[in-house]
Amino acid sequence: MSSPYPTPGTMLSEIYGDTTGRHRFDPYLADWSDSLKDDRGRVRLHKARCSFLQGSFDFGDLKKAYQMWVGLPEFGKINVYQNGVLLETIISKLPKRGNDIYRWKLKKRLSFLESLGDSHFFNPKDRNLHGAKTQMLFITLTWDPTTCDLETAWSGRKVDKIKGLLNSDPYNPIISKRCKPENVGDHYLAHARGCPCVSCRWNRWVSAMRKNYGKIKVFRNFEAFGESPDDNKVHADGYPHVHAVLLFEDYEFPVSLRDRHKHFRISRGEKDKISNLWDFHVDIEACYSVQGAMGYIKKYLLKTYGKPNVENVPRITSDKAEFTTSLLWLFRKQSFAVSGGGWSDLITYGVTQTDISDFC
Ligand SMILES: [Zn+2]
Ligand SMILES: [Zn+2]
Repeated sequence: MSSPYPTPGTMLSEIYGDTTGRHRFDPYLADWSDSLKDDRGRVRLHKARCSFLQGSFDFGDLKKAYQMWVGLPEFGKINVYQNGVLLETIISKLPKRGNDIYRWKLKKRLSFLESLGDSHFFNPKDRNLHGAKTQMLFITLTWDPTTCDLETAWSGRKVDKIKGLLNSDPYNPIISKRCKPENVGDHYLAHARGCPCVSCRWNRWVSAMRKNYGKIKVFRNFEAFGESPDDNKVHADGYPHVHAVLLFEDYEFPVSLRDRHKHFRISRGEKDKISNLWDFHVDIEACYSVQGAMGYIKKYLLKTYGKPNVENVPRITSDKAEFTTSLLWLFRKQSFAVSGGGWSDLITYGVTQTDISDFC
């Protein structure tokens, strides 16, 4: 059968039949998952992004796509040099977020947590919290899904910018002296001012915190809200939120109570001051020791990245963790990061996703 050459205005459905149904956007593919694969049968992130972002996919499909991707071992050649001389070329399994090599690297990178030493701020067994203070908080910054769509929440609003250009008048351009001459005029994408994405909101919040409280060491982690039952209400399924551990070098918070969930809380006034810097709901717990919090982070991250049998990690299940990982993968987000004097040069683990990105 030959179809007529499509003219402008031809509906895709006239050529392909029903293209809008899930899993059926290309009827020539026998299996929906073929639409994610390259010609060697490997799932590719850019293909998953096309399918998800154009709406052919739901979260279940996304998780399956991620599972297929992470489950396929891929290998690369690594050249080993010594003093500039090539010693040998080895074949190595590549890290992909959520596979064993990735976790092995993650563990190595996390060993810096132990080097922080330990400070005890107060005794969690004390019945009387009178005078108890802490310099470390575990903070959750949540999201309101009615404020923007899912892709904007993760990826932001981007604007096209020109390197080295200080004004917006093309007839009288003012060129920055700090920009390398060979780069002047290059186009790049930047997040718009006041961008509502999770990274920009987070950066603005941390800057405001440092303005108010002085030096803060920060460990932050992005996570996705899990899936909720279909009840015709608006849910934040798949939207980002932030968990962060903050170590304040110049500030102490009075610990005022232990609530019925056994979480330690700072005073209402202090809590409100921090909450007001974020547009959505904020939860704050007081930590009683550095290593207590770090131990949690370590277990949490290993579980998030697919290590089986990590026990006693409140707040996540393997299923939820996989959902988070598949969204971070889809939106090419760095999973966690540390900042604030000392920590910053130690680690920024995550993933710069360029073209070989399909591995991270
Ligand atoms: Zn942004
Ligand atoms: Zn969470």
